[in-house]
Amino acid sequence: MAIECENRGVGTLLAHVGSHPEEHHGFVNPPIYRGSTVIFPNVDTMQSGDQRYQYGRLNNPSTEALNEALTSLEMACGSVLTPSGLSACTTAILSVVGAGDHLLVPDSVYGPTRHFCETAGRRMGIETTYYDPTIGAGIQALFKPNTRAVFTESPGSHTIEIQDIPAIAAVARKHDAIVITDNTWATPLLFKPLVAGADISVMAGTKYVVGHSDALLGTVAAGPRAWDKVKAFHFQLGMHVGPDDVTLALRGLRTLEVRLARHQESAIEIAQWLEGHDEVSRVIHPALSSHPQHSLWKRDFSGSSGLFSFVTKPAPFEAIKAMLDDLEFFGLGYSWGGFESLAITVDPRAIRSATSWDESGHLIRLHIGLEDPNDLIADLAKGIQRFRNYA
Ligand SMILES: *Cc1c(COP(=O)(O)O)cnc(C)c1O
Repeated sequence: MAIECENRGVGTLLAHVGSHPEEHHGFVNPPIYRGSTVIFPNVDTMQSGDQRYQYGRLNNPSTEALNEALTSLEMACGSVLTPSGLSACTTAILSVVGAGDHLLVPDSVYGPTRHFCETAGRRMGIETTYYDPTIGAGIQALFKPNTRAVFTESPGSHTIEIQDIPAIAAVARKHDAIVITDNTWATPLLFKPLVAGADISVMAGTKYVVGHSDALLGTVAAGPRAWDKVKAFHFQLGMHVGPDDVTLALRGLRTLEVRLARHQESAIEIAQWLEGHDEVSRVIHPALSSHPQHSLWKRDFSGSSGLFSFVTKPAPFEAIKAMLDDLEFFGLGYSWGGFESLAITVDPRAIRSATSWDESGHLIRLHIGLEDPNDLIADLAKGIQRFRNYA
């Protein structure tokens, strides 16, 4: 029985959705069934297609529980799981576009999603146009007769632009195009793409859903205009996620609300602390009133997560290395959404074509983990001191 999102608190939903102890001898969590073959009692049952589990690739108690939870949370018609966040993005795109179709993608999109469009997507005959993520209803001007889908990602990777997804979705609907949203940053707890007008909501479950940096997984949830296509394409490709990783995602989901609250609180505290420094030219966090799309974020999101960026004052790159190399609690690593804090430095110029990035300082992206924020601030303060010694 799916628990409805509207009439229960989200913590209640997360604690109970997809949980059916009565089906598993009373155990709270579904057991991990490892298996490909499922045995049928007789030919008639096998041919009827009615047996609940028929083959490991199609369904098992773990995937069923996670999909039930995601479908409720996203207020979707259904959801499928993929082996990584990137494969969730590409599965969503290929479910609704094909040879001869035109796709719109924000300039600030996650780099590997852009790489897919430039390589496999192009080889398959999909033409991609990149657009300014802050374009809003102005996206109208970029539509062609063969525009089949608009990809959105809010906030943008690294540069944290907030997109006006309701405005984009209204235009797309007029053109009968599908809107896909990569909602990894917010999760459906802080923003519900399908309620805002998108047709497909994608997450790198690898990040906040799994939440412990110990598994990769992608989720694709779809509304009525896209669900049949997503479900069919996922089946055609033979996508499957092993029950162990699904179990880790389901376990992560149960505590998502409390973890996000802590990520949010610490990230805002640290963003505000950074904003007061001479060495920092700009902090890019949508919950700060200095963010260019702060009002849009306030209108559409119910909170913020632990990932944001800041730009340093111009300095030799040696100063950045001095700051980041010796951080005690911030690891240098890709991915994010786990309990640990992370830092990376990126140059957005390398992956932009529709917009320009003209900051003269260096961009640093932080993921604020679940550590004590005072320790993180002390760590960053020492890093800024090392930066100052170089600059
Ligand atoms: C990390 C990330 C992905 C890809 O997730 P993987 O599980 O690493 O493949 C996709 N989109 C966004 C926004 C991400 O941050």
